[in-house]
Amino acid sequence: MTATTGEPSFRQSVDLMFTRAAALMDLPPGLEEKIRVCNSTYTVRFGVKLRGEVHTFTGYRSVHSEHTEPVKGGIRYAPSVNQDEVEALAALMTYKCALVEAPFGGSKGGLCIDPRHWDADELEKITRRFAYELIKRDLIDPAQNVPAPDMGTGEREMAIIADQYARMNTTDINARACVTGKPIHAGGIQGRVEATGRGVQYALQEFFRHPEDVKKAGLSGTLDGKRVIVQGLGNVGYHAALYLSTQDGCKITHVIERDGAVENQAGLDIVALRDWITRHGGVKDCPYGTYHAEGARVLEADCDILIPAAMEGVINTHNAGAIQAPLIIEAANGPVTAGADDILRHKGTVIIPDLYANAGGVTVSYFEWVKNLSHIRFGRMQRRQEEARHQLIVDELERISRDSSINWTLSPNFKERYLRGADELELVRSGLDDTMRAAYQSMREVWWGHDKVTDLRTAGFLVSIERVAKSYQAKGI
Ligand code: GLU
Repeated sequence: MTATTGEPSFRQSVDLMFTRAAALMDLPPGLEEKIRVCNSTYTVRFGVKLRGEVHTFTGYRSVHSEHTEPVKGGIRYAPSVNQDEVEALAALMTYKCALVEAPFGGSKGGLCIDPRHWDADELEKITRRFAYELIKRDLIDPAQNVPAPDMGTGEREMAIIADQYARMNTTDINARACVTGKPIHAGGIQGRVEATGRGVQYALQEFFRHPEDVKKAGLSGTLDGKRVIVQGLGNVGYHAALYLSTQDGCKITHVIERDGAVENQAGLDIVALRDWITRHGGVKDCPYGTYHAEGARVLEADCDILIPAAMEGVINTHNAGAIQAPLIIEAANGPVTAGADDILRHKGTVIIPDLYANAGGVTVSYFEWVKNLSHIRFGRMQRRQEEARHQLIVDELERISRDSSINWTLSPNFKERYLRGADELELVRSGLDDTMRAAYQSMREVWWGHDKVTDLRTAGFLVSIERVAKSYQAKGI
């Protein structure tokens, strides 16, 4: 229990969710415990000389499960980082990767730091030193442990980590695969920055393809016109809100940020709002809607879909009873505590759980890792050949049209759209969409098919645990 909230810690919360699902399974004795526990956590304290004095930083890298290697998971920079959190996040990575069939065990890292407190050069020094400490213990390695961005980190930190690894491993031809989420010019892949938010969009699209599932949430119809609350307009929340509002017809009625919330029932312009937040540091005084100083209360506002996209534990036993949203999609890791999950489940709220909903990031990380190991961009071999084959069909259609008595023509743009072979971004999006659809199907089969499973989270855990268990059993454990 944490003293401040009276609720289990984040790690205990994930364990409770795991145990709830494992209780419905028939695992061999001892295997449940083996899967649940975190294999190891390395804590490092290192000093960096900055602004004329030595500052000591504390960082962690947890490895939850090595049933498949490398292990995978982001590195978070936040003042609140602690061992319990990193271990909870590492466990979620194991279940997430298993659910979307990314061939990784689960890991996570964190550094106790407020990144806004340091400039770019200082952050580079700190990141290099942290990376050095992890690399020399094989806690960053293309075959063993592959980090990625998380809260407070992004492409820049990943490029620094990749460079540090390359300096320390000059003969490793696969050096670039030691970390994902890199910028394109440092071995990254198109579509990685948007990936988690894009995955949230694909997850919702898939959910709304099943009217029976939508009905369980007391909703009907399509995504078009649905009123959405987004908590946190960081990388994940921003991309999810952007695509849902510009491509699926959703209305983003509320955005909750650090300094409060902004409401506009006609739908917020996400690009303009993000721009305002970047320039002013928050939503206060923004001209796009009504300001609410108490952001947390806005989680309880009337809407169709609630997207918590920031921190863990924001929906807890204190506010779960007041949440009005009939459908919650967890774009963040662990936004709903185990206690809140119980309350919401009994209320009939449908929760699309984190281990599925935010798996878009690691899915595209998987594509990036494969790209790095194959040393070739996706589509490079096939694109023009595909175009040439399409050209053949178009030429033939045109010939038939000319020779036949029926005078038919191709619709405008058809040629242009059909002839163009897919580039890397399109392939990445297609792979991500396919992954999100397939993972949802596997959860849904359990949700509808198992008489004791009443929620998607338990269904997701069941699918994941089953896969991890099979992998251990195949090794004789
Ligand atoms: N940090 C992200 C997550 O929590 C991405 C992890 C990765 O790409 O390895 O899923």
